[in-house]
Amino acid sequence: MRKKLIAGNWKMNNNVEESLKLVEALISSKLKEDVDVLICPPFTSLYPVIRELKNSSIKTGAQNVHYEDKGAYTGEVSPLMLKSLGVEYVIIGHSERRQYFGETDLIINKKVKACLRHGLKPILCVGETLDQREAGLEKETVRNQLIKDLDGVTDGSGLVIAYEPVWAIGTGKTATSTQANEMSSYIREVLADIFTAHIAENMKIQYGGSVNASNAKEILDQPHIDGALVGGASLKADEFIKIINY
Ligand code: PEP
Repeated sequence: MRKKLIAGNWKMNNNVEESLKLVEALISSKLKEDVDVLICPPFTSLYPVIRELKNSSIKTGAQNVHYEDKGAYTGEVSPLMLKSLGVEYVIIGHSERRQYFGETDLIINKKVKACLRHGLKPILCVGETLDQREAGLEKETVRNQLIKDLDGVTDGSGLVIAYEPVWAIGTGKTATSTQANEMSSYIREVLADIFTAHIAENMKIQYGGSVNASNAKEILDQPHIDGALVGGASLKADEFIKIINY
């Protein structure tokens, strides 16, 4: 039985004070116990948030990482730096990074490997654009991303996959639960080809794309969906708590 992982991707929102306020609201609320909760604040809030969560079961993740351990890479943050803070997960290959920062599958592949090398769990985001879905290319697109992004990765057991159709991110349009479940099931087949059926069976596949308190239950009740990656709705404590307690 795969435990659900519900993650909040705060993106470029919340200064330290706002981050701590949001974390305090989560800590002081009753949260479902059979769900793992993860928050991914901006880099500047990671350390204060991790300190605040010291005695809590809520986990912390980063939204990006560089693939080198150290060196002359102005503005970048290394996996070793994240590891030393106590970060557990790293979102890799989010469509916003692919789209606005030119992240290619080759770069994403290096980042995935760097995380695994240092014991950080990558949440690898994959998903098709609206044009690709309308052309019937959604499965082919996701398969190609997985094959390229996981090239040379021999063990997927420390990995999470987030299926995030680009057309559903921040748009208020959600994939139907059937579409999301079908794609997650397909992703598991591809993962079985890349790794083994046993490893694929135990890997978590999240759905992301306009998840909110009203649609969370229907999505999270799907058998192939093992959690959610939540953007906008994770910035409001009440809404995120309702999603966790779906
Ligand atoms: C995301 O950023 O990963 C995301 C799914 O955003 P939203 O929930 O706002 O669509």
